[in-house]
Amino acid sequence: MTALEAPRALAALDLLPAEWEQAMAELGQPAYRARQVFHALHVEGARAWEAVTTLPRTLRVELAARFPLAAPTVGARAVSVDGTVKYLLALPDGREIETVHIPDGDRVTVCVSSQAGCALACAFCATGRLGLQRNLTAGEIVEQVYVARHDDPAPNVVFMGMGEPLANYAAVVRALRLLMAPEGLHLSPRRITVSTSGLPDRIRRLAREGLGVRLAVSLHAADDATRSALMPINDRYPLRAVLEAAAEYAQLTGRRVSYEYVMLAGVNDRPQDAARLARLLPRRDAHVNLIPYNPTDAEFRGSPPETIRAFARVLAEHGVPCSVRRSRGRDVEAACGQLAGARRGAVAAVS
Ligand code: SF4
Repeated sequence: MTALEAPRALAALDLLPAEWEQAMAELGQPAYRARQVFHALHVEGARAWEAVTTLPRTLRVELAARFPLAAPTVGARAVSVDGTVKYLLALPDGREIETVHIPDGDRVTVCVSSQAGCALACAFCATGRLGLQRNLTAGEIVEQVYVARHDDPAPNVVFMGMGEPLANYAAVVRALRLLMAPEGLHLSPRRITVSTSGLPDRIRRLAREGLGVRLAVSLHAADDATRSALMPINDRYPLRAVLEAAAEYAQLTGRRVSYEYVMLAGVNDRPQDAARLARLLPRRDAHVNLIPYNPTDAEFRGSPPETIRAFARVLAEHGVPCSVRRSRGRDVEAACGQLAGARRGAVAAVS
C-alpha cells in the first residue's frame, strides 16, 4: 500500500451506525442518540454540528471537537439539455472529483467517483492520465450521492466515475454499508453497481462481504493483446483471471455480472471481436453493455452506430444479452463510467 492509498482517520460521515453507538456509549449517551446522529448526517444532510438541534448543545460541542464534519462542496454544476447534471465537487484538501446525476424517466442514477484521479492509466481515459491523486474516504463517496440524488429517496448508484473502486476497497465497502444502512438511505443492493477494471482478488473478496451489490466488469477487448494495449492492468490480471473471478462473483452472490465494452473504431469493434467476446462469456449469467465512445484525444475514435449495431447482432446470434448505452449529457461533458475525465472531453453514458 502506498502513502496515497493509506487509510485516513475516520470522520463523522465515515462512521457506521454501530460505530456511532459505540461512540455515544463512550460519551455516556443513550443508544438512540446514535440513530439521531446518523439520520441527521445521512438523511437530513446536516453538515454542521450546531445545526443538529435534536442533540443537546453540550453534546454538539463535544461531537464537533471529536468528529470533523468536513464534506465535499459543489465547485461547479452544469446541466445538460437532456437533464443530466454534472457536478464538480471540491474536496476539503482542494482536489476535485466528478459526480453525475442522470435522470431517466422516473428513475435517477447517480454516478460516483471513488478516487481522485486513477493509477490504472487506461489508454482511452482522461482520468487515467491524471495518475492517482488520492483515495476518497467513505464519507466523500456517500456525500456525492447525497448531493446528486436531488431528493430522490432511492436513487440507483453506480461506481463508474473517477478511479478504480476496488483499488480503494475499504472505503468503498464502507460507503456501500453506509448507503444500505436502514438508519440512512437504506438503498437496496440491487440499486448499486460497482464497476471494476477487474482486480480478481478484490472481486472475490467483495463477493464474500455479504453485500449483494451488482458488479460490472470493464472488458473493452476480447483478447489479451488488445486489452493490454487499452488497459495496462491486463498485463497483471489477464482476461481469463478476471472472468474466473467474475464467474465466482455471480455464483456466490446470485447476481448476473455485466460486462462493459467501449466501442473503439478499428480497435475492438470487428464482428470477429464480437464472436470472440461471446465465446468468452457465460451465456446466462452475463450481460454486455456496449458503450459508444466520444474521443478524449486524437488517438481513438468511437465506432460508427452501424458498426455498434453489427457487433450487437453478433452477440445476440451467440445468445449473449447486450444493450447499447445511450450517451447522456454530451453538452456538459458528463463523464461517467470507466471513461471519466470529462473536463478533457470524455463522455460515457449510463442509462
Ligand atoms: S477507465 Fe477507470 S480504471 Fe481505467 S484509468 Fe480510467 S478511471 Fe481508471
